[in-house]
Order: sequence, then C-alpha cells, then structure tokens
Amino acid sequence: MIRIVTLSDFPPDVIDFVSRRIHAAYGMGCELEGDGAVPKGALDDEQSAYDAVKMVDEMDDDVTLYADDKIIYLTKEALTAPPGPMGLGPVAGYAQYGGGKAVATAYGLGEKGLPSVEAGLAKRAAHYVGHLWDLHHCYDVRCAMHPGWAPGFAAYPEVALCLFCREKSERKIKLGSG
Ligand SMILES: [Zn+2]
Ligand SMILES: [Zn+2]
Repeated sequence: MIRIVTLSDFPPDVIDFVSRRIHAAYGMGCELEGDGAVPKGALDDEQSAYDAVKMVDEMDDDVTLYADDKIIYLTKEALTAPPGPMGLGPVAGYAQYGGGKAVATAYGLGEKGLPSVEAGLAKRAAHYVGHLWDLHHCYDVRCAMHPGWAPGFAAYPEVALCLFCREKSERKIKLGSG
C-alpha cells in the first residue's frame, strides 16, 4: 500500500487525482492516510525553503507501516536539497532510494511553463514513489521517471511509465511483498 500524508491543505479532488494516478502507474493500492506536521528543524531560513532530506528523514508520524508500505508526503512548500551533482537549489521532492518515504511539492505548479497543480503533483509524486523502488532517471521523455527539470516533464503532464520502468517497478513490488 502507498500511503499519502498531506503536509499542506489540498482540495480533496487533487488528492483523489494523485492517488488514482499513482495506483494506475504502479498497480498498487494508494490512499490518503491523513495529515502530518513538518519537522521544525527542516526549515532552511537562509533559503526560505524546507530541506527536503530533513523533512523526510525527521518526519515523526505514527503511521503503521507494513513491509511493502510506502509513504508519499505532499506539500506546497518550496523545497531544497543539499548540494549534489545539480548544485544546491530548489527541488520538486526527495525520496529515500529503495526506502519507505518520499516527499513531493506542488510548489511552482500552475505557473508559466508548468502543468496544473493536479497533473504536476501527480507526476512528481509518481516520480518520487518510483525512486522508492530504486527506479533511476529515465531517458524516455514521456516516462514519469524522466527528470522533473527536463522539458519532457511539462510537455507530457500525464503520468505514465515506460515499459522498462514499469517492468522494473513490478519486479521490485513483487520482491517487496514476497
Ligand atoms: Zn528523480
Ligand atoms: Zn522510464
């Protein structure tokens, strides 16, 4: 089961859309678990954004996770990540690679050049959930695992996995529930 925990207020139809798209992409149940509070230590004052890594790692929630459960946190806040190959800067989310928890933000969606909040959040959430199953970035511009900063993200707002990523996720899901 993939559990959605909201860290900001979202209209129910947006959450419903996101959970349906994730369910369709991975063939696994996806439902709203509830809402949560962002850990205070995750706010990076200098950048007026939340540290996405701290946000996920320090999240203190009492969701009961079973072996193959995943949590995707949804927020509207600006997120940032520690310096990496792409440098320090805004990110659309973060995932514990091969782990249990990820976050995706609706920040910036609905503005010029980006998909609507509903479509964009579904695609970002599906992308970071994919990393939880060790899916890596994908060259197929239509695939949800194509990087969010690449033009394909906005050009193909629908949530779809290419055959390679779909098969890899199916193998991982099968292993996780075995
Ligand atoms: Zn990614
Ligand atoms: Zn792919």
